[in-house]
Amino acid sequence: MRVLVVEDEKKVAAAVRRGMEAEGFAVDVALTGTDGKWFATQNEYDVIVLDIMLPGINGFKLCAQLRDLGIWTPILMLTAKDGDLDEAEALDTGADDFLRKPFSYVVLVARIRALLRRSSLGEVSLSYEVGDLTLDPNSRRCARAGQDIHLTAKEFAVLEFLMRRPGDVVGKLEILDNVWDFAFEGDPNIVEVYIGYLRKKIDEPFDRKSIETVRGAGYRLVPSRE
Ligand code: CA
Repeated sequence: MRVLVVEDEKKVAAAVRRGMEAEGFAVDVALTGTDGKWFATQNEYDVIVLDIMLPGINGFKLCAQLRDLGIWTPILMLTAKDGDLDEAEALDTGADDFLRKPFSYVVLVARIRALLRRSSLGEVSLSYEVGDLTLDPNSRRCARAGQDIHLTAKEFAVLEFLMRRPGDVVGKLEILDNVWDFAFEGDPNIVEVYIGYLRKKIDEPFDRKSIETVRGAGYRLVPSRE
């Protein structure tokens, strides 16, 4: 899951980034409305967290401009305390939800997950099942044949991305784009490394081969039999 945070208060932006990365989200931060617009039009995000008072373009204007450009990514707007007017205007400009500052990080993550659930329009209930492998992003649990498997945040995110499209060939770069953030400049082979970690956890102990390598194309998650 890839999230764009547009927030000019560096401390808030950094805290949000740290927290969300710990949950396995890939996070890009823009410190001005102008940068936010650039990011939002250059990349595909699952959610945009948007502050209102921003240098460059303010949050209301940016939200309206993105909608005008046909960008329908769910937007969670950050409003000021007692900002009832802000909230009405936020929804009016096309935001999907708002959150009052100061907010607790736990509430932010819960709201983002709720937005993702709403936007995945019938794309299952945001709990995934492929064969006897299950993944529940809300409780952060993964299990095979009912047996809990502990995954790190990044492993979880890679597997979640594969589980959203079972049976499809998913490209290495696609995984990289969705799980690692824009600033990632390391070796794209990091994806292979994580696929290796996942195989050691979700396949090998159960004598399965559910993550297939499709040469030159990527990976495919299949329901693997015992
Ligand atoms: Ca601000």
